[in-house]
Amino acid sequence: MKIKAAVTHEQGQDFKIEEVELHEPRLDEVLIKIVASGVCHTDAVARDIGLSPFPAVFGHEGAGIVEKVGEGVQNIAPGDHVVLSYAYCGSCENCLSGHSSTCENFNDLNFGGEMSDGTHRLHQHDQPVSTFFGQSSFGTYAVANQRNVVKVDKDVDLALLGPLGCGIQTGSGTVLNKLKPAFGSSIAIYGAGAVGLSAVMAAKIAGCKHIIAVDIHDNRLELAKELGATHVLNGQKSDVVKEIKAITGSGTHYAIETTGVPPVVKQSVHALRPLGAVAIVGVTPAIEFDVHNDIMAEGKTIMGVIEGDAVPQLFIPELVEYYKKGLFPFDKLVQFYEFDQINQAFEDSKTGKTIKPILKIS
Ligand SMILES: [Zn+2]
Ligand SMILES: [Zn+2]
Repeated sequence: MKIKAAVTHEQGQDFKIEEVELHEPRLDEVLIKIVASGVCHTDAVARDIGLSPFPAVFGHEGAGIVEKVGEGVQNIAPGDHVVLSYAYCGSCENCLSGHSSTCENFNDLNFGGEMSDGTHRLHQHDQPVSTFFGQSSFGTYAVANQRNVVKVDKDVDLALLGPLGCGIQTGSGTVLNKLKPAFGSSIAIYGAGAVGLSAVMAAKIAGCKHIIAVDIHDNRLELAKELGATHVLNGQKSDVVKEIKAITGSGTHYAIETTGVPPVVKQSVHALRPLGAVAIVGVTPAIEFDVHNDIMAEGKTIMGVIEGDAVPQLFIPELVEYYKKGLFPFDKLVQFYEFDQINQAFEDSKTGKTIKPILKIS
């Protein structure tokens, strides 16, 4: 079928909305009419650095309505409201033990450009076009494997839900699935973007006593307070490590680092109390640590976390439930754009004007 999709032909190029051929879903695949798609930082990285072969259709926070399912698809039917999340194989050791976000085939399935059977669903003038994250949600329709299709409650505005498939799942899942903070513990969250603010809301759900948000934009820190931060620190105006130790006594039990900025990553480790743990979720370059003094001697842990260590089919419906109860108000991070404003949406995300852009596609 012919669809409209935002195609990226070359590295660093603006998105162009063009006609693309989308093939029928195969045995274990689902055809989805995309209603809206979130814009995530990884889309910009893919466009500018080239994570997948060009030409490509990016977008990996799709939300839509099922049109058609392959004969082998179970529990998903035409008319269902769905969120699209990351692709995973379902059969490696990590997938089988409930850690599909660290699937051993994650890179191939999400960034290789092909579906799991090694073929393409998208073509333009007979040339294969890469699928991204097994979905390519910057299009009017998408085909995805049933494994990354998550059925959601029809009572909630579907256009809002796409970001639950990546950015919001990453922040909240890192707290609730990985760090699992004890009641009354303290957590510092570095970076108050979509991922960090989702972590703030999750830390409130978990019952943390001190939830300290650190950013360099006061407007984002204000929003962090509204969403549950008990303290906020502007990293350009305060000595973050000293302030955190003053608030907590000897540092935080937990931290999430979303910025990938080396001095901030170091702060996140230095402001931990002994035995504290920090989850790194930002794209971070090489950093030098004094391993003995910074980590070993105080029994600290530095861990990497992908996609909030969440199994999307289990975690996303939970987030929707908390949203419905008013306990996870992620709609406060969102700004809607029309599909043809896609380049503006990326620009506004880059400058920080918008925390989480969502493209309304149909
Ligand atoms: Zn796997
Ligand atoms: Zn993402």
